[in-house]
Amino acid sequence: MKLYEIPRNTRIKILDENSFIPPGALLIEKGDILAFSHIDGMYSVCYKNNILCHLMASTNVELLPMHKFNNGIGATLCNKCHAIISTGFTNSLFCSKCFNELLLINENKKKSKL
Ligand SMILES: [Zn+2]
Repeated sequence: MKLYEIPRNTRIKILDENSFIPPGALLIEKGDILAFSHIDGMYSVCYKNNILCHLMASTNVELLPMHKFNNGIGATLCNKCHAIISTGFTNSLFCSKCFNELLLINENKKKSKL
């Protein structure tokens, strides 16, 4: 996925070998895991180990499951609406409601390209 397609306030993994960053900015490498805040123009607001960094909005990234420690067993949350998908840590990215909404959006995008 491109970074600009990712929902706000999520965790991402960098897939591109060479990421575009502004001159002098914190270096970002393939496989780095960042906290993605939001897109701001051509670039984004991300945090690598709590240090601000600006990754190009068109960077190829992987969306990671959202895991929260809830005083014990922990839970996996939906990346879009932040509802609890399940207790414990799973690889699920979205709840079924948001997943169906995203499928609809993608189908409509394909139709509008024809
Ligand atoms: Zn959801």
